[in-house]
Amino acid sequence: MSDCPFCKIASGQIPARLLHDDDQCVAFADINPQAPFHALVIPRRHLTTLNELTAADEPLVGHLLRVAAEVARAGGVAEKGWRASFNTNRDGGQVVFHVHLHVLGGRQMGWPPG
Ligand code: 5GP
Ligand code: ZN
Repeated sequence: MSDCPFCKIASGQIPARLLHDDDQCVAFADINPQAPFHALVIPRRHLTTLNELTAADEPLVGHLLRVAAEVARAGGVAEKGWRASFNTNRDGGQVVFHVHLHVLGGRQMGWPPG
C-alpha cells in the first residue's frame, strides 16, 4: 500500500532502527516508546488488521510471535518479562492500520490494560 507508513518502513522508504529483517517480517524500535524497550514486529505484506487473517496466515502469525520472542531476548527483557500486544481497530487502540505486534519490556506492565 503506497500510503502506509509501515509498508514504507518494510521497503526502506522510511528509516527505522531495525532490530530484525527477513523475508516475511521486519522488527524495529517504536518511534514513541511506551516502555524502556518497545519494538514493533510487522509482516512485510500489508494486512490492515487481525480481522483480515485467514487460515493461510497462521504460519505468518506464528513467525511474528517467534521473532517477537527473539527481539525481546536480544533486547535483554526476556527473563524479567515482556508484553506482546496486537491492537485491533478503534477500541483496541489501533492507530496504524498495518498489522503490528508491540513488544514491550523493561518495566512492570499493568493489568488489565487501560
Ligand atoms: P497502534 O496504536 O496502531 O497499535 O501503534 C502504532 C505504533 O506505531 C505507535 O506505538 C507509534 O509510536 C508507532 N509508530 C507510528 N509511526 C511510526 C514510524 O514512522 N516509525 C516508528 N518507528 N514507529 C511508528
Ligand atoms: Zn502497510
